[in-house]
Amino acid sequence: MQLKILGTGSAGNCYILENNKEALIIELGLSFSKIKQALNFDLSKVVGALVTHEHGDHVGKNKEGLLGALNNGIEVYSGQGTFDVLNIKNHNCRNFKKGGYTEIGSFKVLPFKAIHCNNDGSECAEPINFIIEHDECGCVLFVTDSLYCGPRFTDYSIKFNNIIIEANYCEEIIKKNLEKGKLPVYLYNRILKSHMSLNTCKETLLANDLSQVQKIVLIHLSDSNSDEKKFKEVITNATGKIVHVANNNQTIEFNKNPF
Ligand SMILES: [Zn+2]
Ligand SMILES: [Zn+2]
Repeated sequence: MQLKILGTGSAGNCYILENNKEALIIELGLSFSKIKQALNFDLSKVVGALVTHEHGDHVGKNKEGLLGALNNGIEVYSGQGTFDVLNIKNHNCRNFKKGGYTEIGSFKVLPFKAIHCNNDGSECAEPINFIIEHDECGCVLFVTDSLYCGPRFTDYSIKFNNIIIEANYCEEIIKKNLEKGKLPVYLYNRILKSHMSLNTCKETLLANDLSQVQKIVLIHLSDSNSDEKKFKEVITNATGKIVHVANNNQTIEFNKNPF
Protein backbone atom coordinates (compact mmCIF):
# COMPACT_ATOMS: atom_id res chain seq x y z
CA MET A 1 0.00 0.00 0.00
CA GLN A 2 1.11 3.53 -0.68
CA LEU A 3 0.00 6.76 0.91
CA LYS A 4 -0.02 9.53 -1.66
CA ILE A 5 -0.12 13.05 -0.31
CA LEU A 6 -1.52 15.33 -3.00
CA GLY A 7 -2.05 18.25 -0.67
CA THR A 8 -1.79 18.94 3.05
CA GLY A 9 -2.51 22.09 5.06
CA SER A 10 -4.80 25.06 4.71
CA ALA A 11 -4.24 25.35 0.93
CA GLY A 12 -5.96 22.01 0.37
CA ASN A 13 -5.97 18.46 1.69
CA CYS A 14 -6.11 15.25 -0.28
CA TYR A 15 -4.55 11.90 0.55
CA ILE A 16 -4.90 8.59 -1.31
CA LEU A 17 -4.36 5.09 0.06
CA GLU A 18 -3.59 3.07 -3.04
CA ASN A 19 -2.41 -0.39 -4.05
CA ASN A 20 -2.47 -1.94 -7.53
CA LYS A 21 -6.14 -2.84 -7.26
CA GLU A 22 -7.85 -0.14 -5.22
CA ALA A 23 -7.67 3.47 -4.13
CA LEU A 24 -9.38 5.19 -1.23
CA ILE A 25 -9.36 8.99 -1.34
CA ILE A 26 -9.26 10.83 1.98
CA GLU A 27 -10.38 14.48 1.68
CA LEU A 28 -11.28 16.27 -1.55
CA GLY A 29 -9.71 19.66 -0.86
CA LEU A 30 -8.16 20.16 -4.30
CA SER A 31 -9.56 20.60 -7.79
CA PHE A 32 -10.90 17.31 -9.08
CA SER A 33 -8.66 17.51 -12.17
CA LYS A 34 -5.60 17.39 -9.87
CA ILE A 35 -7.01 14.36 -8.07
CA LYS A 36 -7.75 12.62 -11.40
CA GLN A 37 -4.23 13.32 -12.58
CA ALA A 38 -2.78 11.71 -9.45
CA LEU A 39 -4.81 8.60 -10.30
CA ASN A 40 -3.47 8.57 -13.87
CA PHE A 41 -6.99 9.43 -15.05
CA ASP A 42 -8.13 5.93 -14.04
CA LEU A 43 -11.06 6.26 -11.67
CA SER A 44 -12.00 2.58 -11.93
CA LYS A 45 -9.69 1.80 -9.00
CA VAL A 46 -11.39 4.27 -6.70
CA VAL A 47 -13.59 2.49 -4.16
CA GLY A 48 -14.73 5.70 -2.49
CA ALA A 49 -13.75 8.95 -0.84
CA LEU A 50 -13.92 10.11 2.79
CA VAL A 51 -14.50 13.70 3.83
CA THR A 52 -14.03 14.94 7.40
CA HIS A 53 -15.85 18.29 7.34
CA GLU A 54 -17.14 21.18 5.26
CA HIS A 55 -14.16 23.55 5.06
CA GLY A 56 -12.82 24.52 1.65
CA ASP A 57 -9.41 22.98 2.27
CA HIS A 58 -11.21 19.60 2.62
CA VAL A 59 -13.91 19.83 -0.08
CA GLY A 60 -12.18 22.21 -2.51
CA LYS A 61 -12.74 25.86 -3.33
CA ASN A 62 -16.46 26.28 -4.04
CA LYS A 63 -16.79 22.56 -3.20
CA GLU A 64 -15.16 21.69 -6.52
CA GLY A 65 -13.25 18.66 -5.25
CA LEU A 66 -16.32 17.16 -3.63
CA LEU A 67 -18.66 17.98 -6.53
CA GLY A 68 -16.13 16.66 -9.05
CA ALA A 69 -15.90 13.34 -7.23
CA LEU A 70 -19.69 12.98 -6.90
CA ASN A 71 -20.29 13.92 -10.53
CA ASN A 72 -17.66 11.42 -11.68
CA GLY A 73 -19.42 8.54 -9.96
CA ILE A 74 -17.28 8.34 -6.82
CA GLU A 75 -19.18 7.43 -3.68
CA VAL A 76 -18.31 10.01 -1.03
CA TYR A 77 -18.70 9.14 2.65
CA SER A 78 -19.16 11.90 5.21
CA GLY A 79 -21.44 12.94 8.04
CA GLN A 80 -24.93 13.86 6.79
CA GLY A 81 -24.52 17.16 8.65
CA THR A 82 -21.57 17.98 6.39
CA PHE A 83 -23.53 17.26 3.18
CA ASP A 84 -26.45 19.30 4.54
CA VAL A 85 -24.42 22.37 5.54
CA LEU A 86 -22.83 22.32 2.06
CA ASN A 87 -26.29 21.95 0.55
CA ILE A 88 -25.27 18.88 -1.42
CA LYS A 89 -27.77 16.30 -2.56
CA ASN A 90 -26.36 13.67 -4.88
CA HIS A 91 -27.02 9.97 -5.35
CA ASN A 92 -23.32 9.29 -4.67
CA CYS A 93 -23.43 10.79 -1.15
CA ARG A 94 -23.00 8.05 1.42
CA ASN A 95 -23.35 7.91 5.18
CA PHE A 96 -21.41 5.59 7.44
CA LYS A 97 -23.08 2.58 8.97
CA LYS A 98 -24.17 3.27 12.54
CA GLY A 99 -22.41 1.34 15.29
CA GLY A 100 -19.76 -0.49 13.28
CA TYR A 101 -17.29 -0.43 10.44
CA THR A 102 -18.42 0.54 6.94
CA GLU A 103 -16.92 -1.57 4.17
CA ILE A 104 -15.61 0.46 1.25
CA GLY A 105 -13.97 -1.94 -1.21
CA SER A 106 -11.46 -3.91 0.88
CA PHE A 107 -11.19 -1.03 3.35
CA LYS A 108 -13.17 -0.89 6.58
CA VAL A 109 -13.80 2.57 8.00
CA LEU A 110 -15.02 3.68 11.41
CA PRO A 111 -15.68 7.40 11.88
CA PHE A 112 -15.49 9.16 15.24
CA LYS A 113 -16.24 12.71 16.31
CA ALA A 114 -13.70 15.50 15.80
CA ILE A 115 -13.68 18.85 17.64
CA HIS A 116 -13.46 21.69 15.14
CA CYS A 117 -14.98 25.12 14.57
CA ASN A 118 -15.57 27.73 11.88
CA ASN A 119 -13.92 31.15 11.49
CA ASP A 120 -16.70 32.79 13.50
CA GLY A 121 -16.16 30.37 16.39
CA SER A 122 -19.32 28.34 15.75
CA GLU A 123 -18.92 24.59 15.65
CA CYS A 124 -18.65 22.68 12.39
CA ALA A 125 -21.76 20.70 11.43
CA GLU A 126 -20.48 17.15 11.92
CA PRO A 127 -16.68 16.95 11.86
CA ILE A 128 -15.29 13.41 11.93
CA ASN A 129 -11.99 11.54 11.87
CA PHE A 130 -11.42 7.90 11.00
CA ILE A 131 -10.03 4.51 11.82
CA ILE A 132 -9.27 2.79 8.49
CA GLU A 133 -8.47 -0.91 8.26
CA HIS A 134 -7.01 -2.85 5.37
CA ASP A 135 -4.99 -6.08 5.20
CA GLU A 136 -1.97 -4.28 3.71
CA CYS A 137 -1.69 -1.12 5.82
CA GLY A 138 -3.35 -2.60 8.90
CA CYS A 139 -5.22 -0.41 11.34
CA VAL A 140 -4.70 3.27 10.51
CA LEU A 141 -5.65 6.26 12.63
CA PHE A 142 -6.53 9.40 10.64
CA VAL A 143 -6.88 12.60 12.66
CA THR A 144 -7.09 16.11 11.24
CA ASP A 145 -8.69 19.46 12.01
CA SER A 146 -9.45 18.52 15.58
CA LEU A 147 -8.56 20.28 18.82
CA TYR A 148 -7.85 16.90 20.36
CA CYS A 149 -8.64 13.26 19.74
CA GLY A 150 -11.62 12.28 21.91
CA PRO A 151 -11.71 8.47 22.05
CA ARG A 152 -9.37 6.48 24.29
CA PHE A 153 -8.51 3.71 21.86
CA THR A 154 -6.61 1.69 24.46
CA ASP A 155 -9.97 1.14 26.23
CA TYR A 156 -11.03 -0.83 23.15
CA SER A 157 -7.65 -2.61 22.83
CA ILE A 158 -7.11 -0.95 19.46
CA LYS A 159 -3.51 -1.14 18.31
CA PHE A 160 -2.66 1.00 15.31
CA ASN A 161 -0.22 -0.06 12.60
CA ASN A 162 0.13 3.38 11.03
CA ILE A 163 -0.93 6.85 12.10
CA ILE A 164 -1.75 9.99 10.10
CA ILE A 165 -2.23 12.89 12.50
CA GLU A 166 -2.46 16.67 12.49
CA ALA A 167 0.33 18.68 14.08
CA ASN A 168 -0.82 22.17 13.15
CA TYR A 169 1.19 24.58 15.27
CA CYS A 170 3.42 24.79 18.28
CA GLU A 171 2.68 27.04 21.21
CA GLU A 172 5.98 28.97 21.20
CA ILE A 173 5.91 29.78 17.48
CA ILE A 174 2.27 30.84 17.39
CA LYS A 175 2.71 33.05 20.47
CA LYS A 176 5.74 34.73 18.90
CA ASN A 177 3.78 35.35 15.71
CA LEU A 178 0.98 36.90 17.71
CA GLU A 179 3.38 39.15 19.63
CA LYS A 180 5.13 40.27 16.46
CA GLY A 181 1.75 41.14 14.94
CA LYS A 182 2.19 38.52 12.22
CA LEU A 183 -1.00 36.81 13.26
CA PRO A 184 -4.33 38.59 13.91
CA VAL A 185 -5.86 37.90 17.32
CA TYR A 186 -9.04 36.38 15.85
CA LEU A 187 -7.01 33.85 13.86
CA TYR A 188 -4.83 33.05 16.87
CA ASN A 189 -7.96 32.33 18.91
CA ARG A 190 -9.54 30.27 16.17
CA ILE A 191 -6.44 28.11 15.66
CA LEU A 192 -6.14 27.52 19.39
CA LYS A 193 -9.76 26.39 19.54
CA SER A 194 -9.89 24.16 16.49
CA HIS A 195 -6.53 22.70 15.49
CA MET A 196 -4.19 20.22 17.09
CA SER A 197 -0.98 21.56 18.56
CA LEU A 198 2.31 19.69 18.42
CA ASN A 199 2.04 19.05 22.13
CA THR A 200 -1.50 17.63 21.90
CA CYS A 201 -0.37 15.51 18.95
CA LYS A 202 2.46 14.13 21.08
CA GLU A 203 0.18 13.47 24.06
CA THR A 204 -2.37 11.77 21.79
CA LEU A 205 0.27 9.48 20.36
CA LEU A 206 1.67 8.62 23.79
CA ALA A 207 -1.83 7.83 25.10
CA ASN A 208 -2.01 5.01 22.56
CA ASP A 209 -0.43 1.58 22.33
CA LEU A 210 2.30 2.26 19.77
CA SER A 211 3.86 -1.21 19.93
CA GLN A 212 2.61 -2.17 16.45
CA VAL A 213 3.08 1.23 14.79
CA GLN A 214 5.26 1.35 11.68
CA LYS A 215 4.95 4.97 10.62
CA ILE A 216 3.60 8.24 11.91
CA VAL A 217 2.78 10.88 9.30
CA LEU A 218 2.29 14.45 10.53
CA ILE A 219 -0.20 16.41 8.43
CA HIS A 220 -1.88 19.82 8.10
CA LEU A 221 1.11 21.80 9.43
CA SER A 222 0.43 25.52 9.47
CA ASP A 223 2.77 27.35 7.06
CA SER A 224 3.72 30.07 9.52
CA ASN A 225 3.12 28.52 12.94
CA SER A 226 5.11 25.32 12.58
CA ASP A 227 8.66 24.09 12.02
CA GLU A 228 9.00 20.89 10.05
CA LYS A 229 12.37 19.92 11.45
CA LYS A 230 11.40 20.55 15.06
CA PHE A 231 8.07 18.73 14.70
CA LYS A 232 9.75 15.65 13.27
CA GLU A 233 12.37 15.69 16.01
CA VAL A 234 9.86 16.10 18.87
CA ILE A 235 7.62 13.25 17.67
CA THR A 236 10.53 10.96 16.79
CA ASN A 237 12.10 11.47 20.23
CA ALA A 238 8.77 10.97 22.02
CA THR A 239 7.71 7.82 20.16
CA GLY A 240 10.88 6.22 18.77
CA LYS A 241 8.96 5.59 15.53
CA ILE A 242 9.58 6.47 11.88
CA VAL A 243 8.08 9.94 11.48
CA HIS A 244 7.31 11.68 8.20
CA VAL A 245 6.21 15.27 7.85
CA ALA A 246 3.72 15.32 4.98
CA ASN A 247 4.53 17.45 1.97
CA ASN A 248 2.53 18.01 -1.18
CA ASN A 249 3.20 15.47 -3.94
CA GLN A 250 4.85 12.92 -1.71
CA THR A 251 4.40 9.14 -1.72
CA ILE A 252 5.08 7.05 1.38
CA GLU A 253 5.17 3.25 1.56
CA PHE A 254 2.43 2.45 4.01
CA ASN A 255 2.28 -1.14 5.15
CA LYS A 256 1.45 -3.19 8.19
CA ASN A 257 4.76 -5.02 7.98
CA PRO A 258 8.11 -3.30 7.46
CA PHE A 259 9.14 -5.72 4.68
ZN1 LIG B 1 -8.20 22.04 7.35
ZN1 LIG C 1 -11.21 22.84 8.99
